Amino acid sequence: MARRALARVNLGAIERNVALLKRGLRGGAQLWAVVKAGAYGHGAVPVARAALRGGAGGLAVATAEEAAELRGGGVQAPILVMGAISGEELPVALHAGAELVAWDERFLDQLARSATAPVRIHVKLDTGMGRLGTRELSEALAVAGRALAAGPQLELAGAMTHFATADDDPEYLAVQLDRFTPFVAELRERSPRIVAHAANSAATLREPGSHLDLVRCGIAIYGCDPMHEDPDRHGLEPALELSSYVAAVKLARAGDSAGYGRRFIAPADTWIATLPIGYGDGIRRALSDNCEVLIAGRRYPLVGAVSMDNITVALGARPSVEVGAPAALIGRQGEERQTAEQLARRIGTISYEVLCGISARVPRRYDRDGEPLQ
Ligand SMILES: *Cc1c(COP(=O)(O)O)cnc(C)c1O
Repeated sequence: MARRALARVNLGAIERNVALLKRGLRGGAQLWAVVKAGAYGHGAVPVARAALRGGAGGLAVATAEEAAELRGGGVQAPILVMGAISGEELPVALHAGAELVAWDERFLDQLARSATAPVRIHVKLDTGMGRLGTRELSEALAVAGRALAAGPQLELAGAMTHFATADDDPEYLAVQLDRFTPFVAELRERSPRIVAHAANSAATLREPGSHLDLVRCGIAIYGCDPMHEDPDRHGLEPALELSSYVAAVKLARAGDSAGYGRRFIAPADTWIATLPIGYGDGIRRALSDNCEVLIAGRRYPLVGAVSMDNITVALGARPSVEVGAPAALIGRQGEERQTAEQLARRIGTISYEVLCGISARVPRRYDRDGEPLQ
């Protein structure tokens, strides 16, 4: 039965993407799956489980609440909270038993006071991203020293950094890696078991020298190309399909309009299909007159404005599709496919934002290569 709007997530694709990425890693590095922002709109708990089945060694999220959500879903794997943590969020992160990122000594002091069980700390050096972390090697080393000296509540677990340009500027990535290397070497001397990590999906795919002990892959495990082209070229399988269905088909006579603002006026008699999905579901309004929809294995242009709950699609001079026909915004029909990358390019953004933008109103349905989950 057709659903108004549905995001179908194939967990088999997630498992295979993780396994594929892992096979490409240098020297036994681990892969941790990044499942922040509700697993980039796919749903954190089911994706986390699939990634672990595919061989992920742990999970990474941005916030304390996200770690708590995974624990609430019964996930027991290690979880790294990569983002900043406020005093209010700290108890949530600690209760979830998450590993945390630190870059200043004040935060460590706060941690040492609040922790009741040992907390694993990853010290972040800002090698050029310019967001979180310290730019000063000396400060990063001081933080690490403090963690080592703090006693049993704190455990120095890792050294990390984050690349600003892994998707489009390998030279700057190399600069960042060069800045990170002495920090890792110095920490290893003090604590040989620390885990060094830097790579996101783009670095994982294009720069084996960045794999170190662990990679943090997000977008690629969902089957998107971190370099914004076609995931096929890496053998990645898009895991999410976003679909709707044809709720109405009617004739617009030449001069009739469709949608708000009369943005579309039929130049000649044109059959129009209305699909009950809109920007309230995450179909961005910038896609007005600027998108295609797959129906019955063919591409049709979205015409007129995207409304909150509906879009209109021009079928041409004949009513070539039936009411009830399934429609895909992201996904595959017959020989045709449309990727999140393609939608993103049309509106000057990246697949990440398209996927995260699929709203809570859209139900997620999970399967494994078409088979229901156990
Ligand atoms: C989101 C994030 C990642 C994952 O990035 P992708 O490009 O999705 O692979 C890795 N590391 C950090 C610090 C992040 O914030």
